[in-house]
Amino acid sequence: MYAGRIVEQANTDDIFHNAKHPYTMGLLKSIPVIGERTDKLDVIPGVVPSLIDLPAGCSFAPRCRQRVEHDMSICTEIDPELKTVSNEEGHLVRCWLYHDYDGHEAPY
Ligand code: SF4
Repeated sequence: MYAGRIVEQANTDDIFHNAKHPYTMGLLKSIPVIGERTDKLDVIPGVVPSLIDLPAGCSFAPRCRQRVEHDMSICTEIDPELKTVSNEEGHLVRCWLYHDYDGHEAPY
């Protein structure tokens, strides 16, 4: 969940080994691994937005590295719906990386 809404839904194995949403991936990267030494854990940049003043479009957009990397203007304009990832029944994600406005698979 992010900013009070489900952003990804799947079985436990898929969440831990096949995460799709940039927020889920960021959370998983920030978990320390026992037996692995590291100077710094990965951090998701920015802060969670106020629920009474959410940004336009995707709530995660101001913190999303993939949005910047793929130059996705739709992210700050239209809020994505929670939709099934193509060919992955039961795996839902709220992200423009995986579907276009018409629900077709996105080109990323
Ligand atoms: S919809 Fe865009 S900003 Fe939101 S998580 Fe997906 S890529 Fe990032």
